Amino acid sequence: MKTLLRSLPAIHEIQQDKRFLIFIHSSGVSKEAATSWIKDIINTVRHDIVEGKRQSVDGLFDEIFSILKAKAKEDKKSTLTKVINATGTILHTNLGRAKLSEDAVSQVQAVAMHYSNLEYQLEKGTRGSRHDIIESIIQEVTGAEAAMVVNNNAAAVYFILKAFAKGKEVIVSRGQLVEIGGSFRVSSIMEESGASLVEVGTTNKTHPFDYEKAITENTAMMMKVHTSNFKTIGFTKSVTIEELVQIKNKHNLLLYEDLGSGAIYDFRTHGIGDEPTVRETLEKGVDIVSFSGDKLLGGPQAGIIAGKKELIAVLKKHQLARVLRVDKMTLAALEATLKAYRHSFHRVKEIPTVSAILSTVEEVEQKARQFVQALTYNHFTFQLEEGTSQIGGGTMPGVDIPTMIVYVSHPNFSAQELFEQFLKLDIPIVCRRKDDHLVFDFRTIEQQEVNIVIEQVKQWIEKTQSLQ
Ligand SMILES: *Cc1c(COP(=O)(O)O)cnc(C)c1O
Repeated sequence: MKTLLRSLPAIHEIQQDKRFLIFIHSSGVSKEAATSWIKDIINTVRHDIVEGKRQSVDGLFDEIFSILKAKAKEDKKSTLTKVINATGTILHTNLGRAKLSEDAVSQVQAVAMHYSNLEYQLEKGTRGSRHDIIESIIQEVTGAEAAMVVNNNAAAVYFILKAFAKGKEVIVSRGQLVEIGGSFRVSSIMEESGASLVEVGTTNKTHPFDYEKAITENTAMMMKVHTSNFKTIGFTKSVTIEELVQIKNKHNLLLYEDLGSGAIYDFRTHGIGDEPTVRETLEKGVDIVSFSGDKLLGGPQAGIIAGKKELIAVLKKHQLARVLRVDKMTLAALEATLKAYRHSFHRVKEIPTVSAILSTVEEVEQKARQFVQALTYNHFTFQLEEGTSQIGGGTMPGVDIPTMIVYVSHPNFSAQELFEQFLKLDIPIVCRRKDDHLVFDFRTIEQQEVNIVIEQVKQWIEKTQSLQ
């Protein structure tokens, strides 16, 4: 053992090997970091020798340099990393919800890498407000009198309740007290804001008189929550916006609707879902609405607040506006995304979320066939079938979009094992599992990703076959 320990190379000997210099130059790893990695490797080898786990140091130099290379490769990977979404769920909250359009990304890059007029009026050469950057485009695509943007829709709900109903009562229908993603509860947010919740009606039925009976001199607001992540079906009755507008006018109250997803584009024209547009809701007379930036809108994480000018003015001046304000990158991405809605159908389809929702079964099938045809291997079974995709993100519950899926199975691997293997690929593939099959839904895989999926699966198959 002693001879073995004595034969371990000194650090400077390794540094003198020409491969050391080449490694430093090609990997971009600093000399100090590389030296510290080498020390770690030598320490591990020494430890293994002492433990009796290692009887030879032959080929140690080769081993050291291959470990260094592997470490450098690992080091380049971010913890937050790109994945391929093969689940078919378009707004997958665990996978980052909406993907940004190319336009949005290039605007983000421009303001992130350079100075910008974030709070500067170029016409006058004086200080400006970041709210002005985005307000007019929101007005244009929603018809709102005024608008502002905060961190996310949960923040928007909190902000509106805090600013207009703190210490007062807010009437909400029991059927709308939703919990979203297990962490967002209207009732909890309301408690945090200092507003008191007055629940009316039953889970399946609420009538206009339920609201009227609940109004006291301490009532500030009636809040409607768009029940976007579940559907009550059957024997139900909810109060329409028109009815709520009548009640709020009669009693001089505020009417706020948390729209959740906030559709700018009317998906109903394609027979998909029954989501009203933001414009429609405002036109019916709701005073103020809020919705997410990264759900149906297809932009960055944000909470958009739109409505009456005097209400938005109160919010802009509120201390919390500073606490909840968004970054320049968010504003850049949101502006670019909203601009696409100004234009023809073709521009709207540049928003990845919109395009994924509107892709036809034929378009999805073409990608699925390309995958199946490229992978004709003995052991694997790839089976093309009709299926359904979900919108996700708590949006349009019960709306199934027809799609084409590929069932993937292998006699030597369970679905769970394959699932885990695909998560370990260079670009992890996240798919669904059903019975003992993997399910790939090509609706959420973009055309340019199909080849990446094919190549990665091919490489995995070849690697596994060579091991067997
Ligand atoms: C999703 C959702 C929220 C939360 O929005 P985030 O942007 O995720 O904070 C609030 N209310 C409703 C009705 C929602 O659907």
